[in-house]
Amino acid sequence: MLTAIVGINWGDEGKGRMVDLLSENEDIVVRYQGGNNAGHTVVNPRGKFILNLLPSGILRPNVVNVMGNGMVIDLEHLCHELERLREGGVAITPDNLKISDKAVICLPYHVLQDGLEEDRLGDAKYGSTRRGIAPVYGDKYLKKAIRMGDLLYPDQLEHRLEHVIDWKNLMIHKAYGAQEIQMDQVIAWLRKFGDPIREYICDTGRYLAEAADEDRRIMFEAQLGALRDIDMGIYPYTSSSSTIAAYAPIGAGIPGYQLDQVIGIMKAYSTCVGEGPFTAEMSGEEAEELRKAGGEYGAATGRPRRVGGFDVVASRYGVEMQGADELALTKLDVLSYLDQIPVCVAYERNGERIDRFPVGYELEQAKPIYEYLPGWNCDISGCREFIELPKAAQDYVNYLEQAVGCPITYISVGAQRDAYIMK
Ligand code: GDP
Ligand code: MG
Repeated sequence: MLTAIVGINWGDEGKGRMVDLLSENEDIVVRYQGGNNAGHTVVNPRGKFILNLLPSGILRPNVVNVMGNGMVIDLEHLCHELERLREGGVAITPDNLKISDKAVICLPYHVLQDGLEEDRLGDAKYGSTRRGIAPVYGDKYLKKAIRMGDLLYPDQLEHRLEHVIDWKNLMIHKAYGAQEIQMDQVIAWLRKFGDPIREYICDTGRYLAEAADEDRRIMFEAQLGALRDIDMGIYPYTSSSSTIAAYAPIGAGIPGYQLDQVIGIMKAYSTCVGEGPFTAEMSGEEAEELRKAGGEYGAATGRPRRVGGFDVVASRYGVEMQGADELALTKLDVLSYLDQIPVCVAYERNGERIDRFPVGYELEQAKPIYEYLPGWNCDISGCREFIELPKAAQDYVNYLEQAVGCPITYISVGAQRDAYIMK
């Protein structure tokens, strides 16, 4: 059974929280794209954890976790993340963590390059997390990347690195005017943070193919959401990787296998970190209240997230791009303070109503059409059955289901593992 857990919106929908919940009976959880620009917050009986690189199944002792070839991995960050988890009592060994030999290493010069470019852009910046993600994916496709498997062959790695660094300095030093990257520093960094990781590196595609052939249960965990997908999202304000479910078998190293199930994680309202068009965006006090109610500050960066009402146009598109079979609606409890619930039901541009999610300049010019649904105005965080929800909350869930054209099977009403309703 191959199940993907993916984001319907701009990210931060609560994927980590749902993977932590739904991985109870899984054998394996795989992260298949992205890097440490992810921030997945998991609250369970073991405590509160923020995961950037590690799959959210790492908190379940019975689950094997895989970091797939579609990922970009900052070794220094990984070492610190492992350390933090171990301090929190989580046991991690090559038995429950496997890292693809084809995953790409995010090096300190990628982080440097990311910052240099954002600074150069000034007010026109992309809103990068400055963690080197765009430069390292760029290098992957330019075929100048260093991969995890290279760590197993240090001599060949040094030889290759020499050429790559010569090339990289053309940009870092000659174009941006920053200090030259020093080979010995890069080697020292790779030794310091790469050596402790070596024992986890293997052919994870083969491992997963064998597991799938044995009918073991594999869950694929996405980072970010459909609207940040490099192809389908709000380019160029996207991430640099494929966040959609269809990429999961590729980013996991089993491109010949098909997903059995796609569960889309959809938030009861909208949030967006960084730059780019965000049609449903609210401002002023209304926004501040929602941001506070939802604790909308980035897990990876601490940045205040932009907020808005639920966006029907964007979410319907997200459902379609993910090919979602069913949805988990998260953070419904956050809306409990509202007398009426704002919903962006369509967009408008030059007096014309838009129902299909537009791209590019059309999207940038789109204005939201807001309607209001009745609120419920009471605490729902203790509800565990759909019928326990106030009528207005039930109506809201049913409305969203209809609006995006996909059944909602889980409703999350709190950050804790058991704070959910099965519909
Ligand atoms: P991810 O990136 O999709 O994994 O989501 P994040 O972890 O970045 O953001 C979701 C945040 O909402 C986290 O702080 C979660 O602990 C929290 N959360 C998840 N589900 C719920 C929910 O149903 N209600 C509330 N109040 N918080 C939730
Ligand atoms: Mg997040």
